[in-house]
Amino acid sequence: MSRKQIAAANWKMNLTVQQGEELLDNIINKPHHLNDNQLVIFAIPAPYLTMAQHKIAEKKGVYVAAQNCFSKKSGAYTGEISVEMLTSLGIQFVVLGHSERREYFNESNAFLAEKINICLENNIQPIFCCGEPLSIREADTQNEYVAKQLKESLYHLSAEQLAKVIIAYEPIWAIGTGKTASSAQAQEMHAFIRKDIAHVYGTEVADSISILYGGSVKAANAVEIFSQPDVDGGLVGGASLIADEFVAIINALQ
Ligand code: PEP
Repeated sequence: MSRKQIAAANWKMNLTVQQGEELLDNIINKPHHLNDNQLVIFAIPAPYLTMAQHKIAEKKGVYVAAQNCFSKKSGAYTGEISVEMLTSLGIQFVVLGHSERREYFNESNAFLAEKINICLENNIQPIFCCGEPLSIREADTQNEYVAKQLKESLYHLSAEQLAKVIIAYEPIWAIGTGKTASSAQAQEMHAFIRKDIAHVYGTEVADSISILYGGSVKAANAVEIFSQPDVDGGLVGGASLIADEFVAIINALQ
């Protein structure tokens, strides 16, 4: 089977539980046409994980993700969320390395490698975010920058482990700015990432990995971006908070 096509919502630190419930209802009860190879994943605030798990319980192809977890198994880490807590709720996905966490919480590639490890040891699939800031894009060194992120956080994994990772390429200059990478820019980087993985792990592994694009995806540009051969869907912030927009993005999956 070909790699999964995924529409992932990132609510970030938005919405009350009541607003979250209403939004989920408005999305999952609208018609969409998910085939067996397509997934919808809602990365939502931690306090709402149980609510969302109940809501999507009967929905085929729909999953809930945490937006973060800690690198340690358990213990005196006040305020952190362990993978064991997530698995005890039935959560199967976690977003790691979002640029906002890298920037505001100083998450390094090495620290993210530790988080990746504990997730995979506990059967949680990471959605690993990578992507360059504007200064790097302007200097045209984005490939080297992203390759370093992949190498330092992922390339210690076995091929079997890496195959469980979902990658989200999110150029930082396109996140929440309304400025989307062109579909050609997205395709170019996604193809580069796949080639880089193939170089280390071989083409079979590289071809099996879903690489999502993130950065101001909306209903109006999703079809064009998702139609690129190496783009396997999107990680969506702002537009995932609007039911009609996100339903259209789900329906844009190829
Ligand atoms: C994100 O937060 O991952 C993101 C891509 O945000 P937005 O869609 O708002 O740019």
